[in-house]
Amino acid sequence: MAEPFFYPIFSFAISFALCSAFNILISPINLQSINFKMKKITNTFKYTAVALVVATSLAGCNQEVTNSNTETQAENKQAEQVTLTSSDVQTFLDDAAKEMIVLGKSNARAAWIYSNFITEDTASLAAESDQLSTEAGVRFAMQAAKFDNVEVTPTQRRQLNILKQSLVLPAPQDSKKSAELAQIGAELGSLYGKGSYTTKEGKKLSLGDMTSTMATSRNYDELLEMWQGWREISPPMKPLYTRQAELANEGANGLGYKDLGAMWRSNYDMPADDFAKELDRLWGQVKPLYDDLHCYVRSELGEEYGEDKVPQDKPIPAHLLGNMWAQSWGNIYDVVAPENADPGYDVTKQLAANDYDEIKMVKGAEKFFTSLGFEALPETFWTRSLFTKPEDRDVICHASAWDLDAKDDLRIKMCIQKTGEEFSVIHHELGHNFYQRAYKDQPVYFQNSANDGFHEAIGDTIALSVTPKYLKEIGLIDTIPDESKDIGLLMKMALEKIAFIPFGLLVDQWRWKVYSGEVTPENYNTAWWELREKYQGVAAPIARDTDAFDPGAKYHIPGNTPYSRYFLAHIQQFEFHRALCEISGNTDPIHRCSIYNNKDAGKALNTMLEMGSSQPWQEAYKVLTGNEQMDATAILDYFAPLQTWLKDKNQGKQCGF
Ligand SMILES: [Zn+2]
Repeated sequence: MAEPFFYPIFSFAISFALCSAFNILISPINLQSINFKMKKITNTFKYTAVALVVATSLAGCNQEVTNSNTETQAENKQAEQVTLTSSDVQTFLDDAAKEMIVLGKSNARAAWIYSNFITEDTASLAAESDQLSTEAGVRFAMQAAKFDNVEVTPTQRRQLNILKQSLVLPAPQDSKKSAELAQIGAELGSLYGKGSYTTKEGKKLSLGDMTSTMATSRNYDELLEMWQGWREISPPMKPLYTRQAELANEGANGLGYKDLGAMWRSNYDMPADDFAKELDRLWGQVKPLYDDLHCYVRSELGEEYGEDKVPQDKPIPAHLLGNMWAQSWGNIYDVVAPENADPGYDVTKQLAANDYDEIKMVKGAEKFFTSLGFEALPETFWTRSLFTKPEDRDVICHASAWDLDAKDDLRIKMCIQKTGEEFSVIHHELGHNFYQRAYKDQPVYFQNSANDGFHEAIGDTIALSVTPKYLKEIGLIDTIPDESKDIGLLMKMALEKIAFIPFGLLVDQWRWKVYSGEVTPENYNTAWWELREKYQGVAAPIARDTDAFDPGAKYHIPGNTPYSRYFLAHIQQFEFHRALCEISGNTDPIHRCSIYNNKDAGKALNTMLEMGSSQPWQEAYKVLTGNEQMDATAILDYFAPLQTWLKDKNQGKQCGF
């Protein structure tokens, strides 16, 4: 997937794709996502709600058994901690691994079939399979927590932590509460999935309809109506969300974490509090560039809509940036496009001129990887993948990459359109596939990316190499545009990626405050907008009602999907790209570099990929970049010409928000 706001909707698929076939086992949110279907959102979520409740009652049954002697539970736990040994832990880990492999395979197949043949029956089978996995995930996490005070090897500890932390939303050890938690999750998902808005003219619009109006309309009032209308779906979520946070905190406490935010932050091989500081440090590196972009874009929007509507000393109204959440701004490129920056070619047209069909596009992307020294994709990839939209049935079209057996059964699922953008997306998706294959020999626990930002970062890193230079090398264009044309390409990239970074940071900033109790329900919405203004320099275009719950209008809040991974991926990809370009001996500015055809770069990349998550991510990072710490200066290097250009354009303007 190329756009972060799409991933979580399809996280069920992604879990196979991006996070190995086995991660799906332990991610309750997947149950909600499994049934997400662009076209029939309402029905689908109705179904999901049922599925979730069933799943919960299964999980609940198990817990009821373990809870039958509540009084003696604490004593038992103590006794277990005294008697459990390293040999117990290995037995437990081995057994859990065996179970995960079996469940993972059948789960992956059920999900694949569902996504490729959407019917009530395939949805049912996929949900049933997911129930089993979720149930197992809860059990594994609880058992793993019992070894908290047992002396184990570092590898065993790493595996135990992976089991403990892979629950996104840990249920309390009380079957009633755990059922309540699942019920709330289903209701939140349903409220979001069924969300729609009826216009003043009486026309009912889906999120998809509104998304495309947000992208293309340049009518201030129409945009405002869309923006406001979509946010009517979320006030009913607020009491549910409040209760969900209480219950999930209790679950996190049960696993030994201070609160759910601390549990999420503990997933990064460093103390939870240090992780939060690390994100702030990285943001501090990027902020000057963001500020320059913000200043220029605000000024252009001021020209478009009038400075009375876009005051030049205040945050930008959130409905004017081409996106429902103002999280990436690529859709307003036409409004802010630099003059004379047309690169002089159109990849979409060039693909047509060179007789590229869907398969030839995928073959082309595969060649990118084989040119780096990676082995060609297996024959089954070509016979089992979905490349074109079937005429005769419903499928989930959004691009995803899959690994069905944690060995060689790699696939993509994409309704490929023959455009330049999709050509990049194919490179991105194959990045996931080659990552999956690289770590297939790791134990099941470590068949994953080094941290949850890496998988997306790798796909995007590869896509960063789809440069004019590369397009010329593969014969798609005849000449590389001169550097004066780079500003247009860099501006497009910055609107997507630089604009996203503060949003990628603040979503979890808000949730961490909610889970820690620093932000209380009466302040949910105010705190959200404080963060939006502080980090993004974006403000609500109209005063918000006291019952508004605007965070709920963003999928990841009711969908309960951690968000820091997207921030990380945006930082990491540029550093990976810079490192690979250096290894390849590139002498061009890094935004012009492609690692195509460079075996040294391929070898270095593979060394990192094949580690999976077997080591702290810092080790994997070091293998490629030479650093254990992330460094956002690669972003500044990449966008250096644009930043110079922006500074020039911003001269005499009032910047800041
Ligand atoms: Zn992706």
